[in-house]
Amino acid sequence: MTDSVYHVAIIGAGVTGAAIAQRLSRYNIAIAVLERYTDISFGVSKANSGIIHAGFHHKPELLKSQLEIKGNGMFDTLKEQLNFPFKRVGILVIAFSYDEMKVLNTLYNQGIENNVPGIELCSREKTLNLEPKLNKDVAGSLYAPSGGIIEPYRFVFALMESARKNGVRLYTNFCVERVEKHNEIYTLYSTYNQKIQAHYVINAAGLYADDISKLFDAEIFTILPRKGEEYILEKNAAGFPNHVIFPVPTKNSKGTLVIPTVEGTMMIGPTAQDVEDKEDVSTSQENLDNVFSLAMHMVPSISKKEIITSFAGLRPALKGNDFYIDISKKASHLIQVAGIQSPGLTASPAIALYVEDLLVKDGLKLSEKSSYDPYIPKSQRVRECSLPKIKKLIEKDKSMGNIVCRCELVSEAEIMEAIKSGHTTIDGIKFYTRAGMGRCQGGFCTYKIMKILIRETGMCPREITKRGAGSFLIHGTLSPDNIKEDT
Ligand SMILES: Cc1cc2nc3c(=O)[nH]c(=O)nc-3n(C[C@H](O)[C@H](O)[C@H](O)COP(=O)(O)OP(=O)(O)OC[C@H]3O[C@@H](n4cnc5c(N)ncnc54)[C@H](O)[C@@H]3O)c2cc1C
Repeated sequence: MTDSVYHVAIIGAGVTGAAIAQRLSRYNIAIAVLERYTDISFGVSKANSGIIHAGFHHKPELLKSQLEIKGNGMFDTLKEQLNFPFKRVGILVIAFSYDEMKVLNTLYNQGIENNVPGIELCSREKTLNLEPKLNKDVAGSLYAPSGGIIEPYRFVFALMESARKNGVRLYTNFCVERVEKHNEIYTLYSTYNQKIQAHYVINAAGLYADDISKLFDAEIFTILPRKGEEYILEKNAAGFPNHVIFPVPTKNSKGTLVIPTVEGTMMIGPTAQDVEDKEDVSTSQENLDNVFSLAMHMVPSISKKEIITSFAGLRPALKGNDFYIDISKKASHLIQVAGIQSPGLTASPAIALYVEDLLVKDGLKLSEKSSYDPYIPKSQRVRECSLPKIKKLIEKDKSMGNIVCRCELVSEAEIMEAIKSGHTTIDGIKFYTRAGMGRCQGGFCTYKIMKILIRETGMCPREITKRGAGSFLIHGTLSPDNIKEDT
């Protein structure tokens, strides 16, 4: 742990904290990111719909609306620099009745006010042309071509890789538990009494932003977890759509969606249910049935037989449902970045710009580094290469030809790259490479990944966890030799 004083400490390495770190890494300041989990993007940012929203769902006066539309527009440049999976597939909100068409009209007008590019109300015929798999009873749609899809964790990893390349220090397993302030310098203590000192602190702690605010004797607010359950269907699913399909929204959510993922699986969901427990990510049969009947009403060819798995995420909502991003009025040099529920992923690059402006307003001096270079190299992924290209790669590196995850075609070289980049849990490697995300959900590849982890890091088998913090995979005694390679 360093004794030097950082200019800025960011609490939380989800998409918000990572985007802020990446943005600020262009300046001549020392930045630390503190994350309670073993890896980054293990909070809300790992379990969401992966949609880059177009910006018509919310009223223009809301901060989240302004940051959503601005954030959306920043993704093309970011993709060029950071090489994460992102496609502008477009969004269709579909209506089945005259009343629902009226709602589309309101959304359209909101979209026009928000300057959503290319937004259009479509007839039934045009809707079915754009999306032939829709229920033929559809009455019309709202089409927003600027909407997109992304792999959220890969985005967070890429942001952090770029930030670290430009000098940002990341501290994982650092759960901020106590704060002291002397001579205008904050000392942040972790559960294990490690400490970091900083002049400015950014509270980007997602579901726990309210607890962090309390540690600083700052504003009192309550983060209300709103659960969203989602279902993942296998690749080549019959109902795979060309666009992200939305129903007309409800009061609390954008409704149950049919989402093509950037890697070819599809998702259905999310639900929206207020819960008390910030760790409750259980799913239920009742919600599954409900989600499927809503989704199948929109796309009848969707089949439950194609489900691979389900998950739940918790939206860190605030009363009033807007983002709360401001300089604390109670604790000096603390920036609150709370209530970052949907569209937080979309808005994240714009949130980072907004926070930068607040820091400057609060007195932080920023000058650009001449050495700043945001670009990170594109990883070689077997599943993205042509056969001749794969042959060439294998000639250079044999481990490129050893397929560890058959469902997602992930090579040993890719697993090794994940480990070298600092992902040393099974989930971290899964989110970095997709190994274990396919049909068998890691049934065939987990032990192979463990074996590579042991070889590359010197970990012993019992140290390996699914996602850190006690989630050990092996109990009892086992040596690396007990984990046998299949033939
Ligand atoms: C079901 C669902 C679907 C969604 N779909 C979309 C979508 O399609 N498009 C979109 O734009 N948005 C979507 N969202 C919203 C989006 O996922 C969030 O807005 C975003 O991920 C919030 O990121 P964050 O960094 O603020 O929070 P998080 O990702 O939770 O990051 C906060 C981090 O702070 C850490 N932390 C907490 N306390 C401490 C502490 N004491 N010390 C150190 N670290 C700490 C946590 O471990 C965590 O990693 C969805 C959300 C859900 C739940």
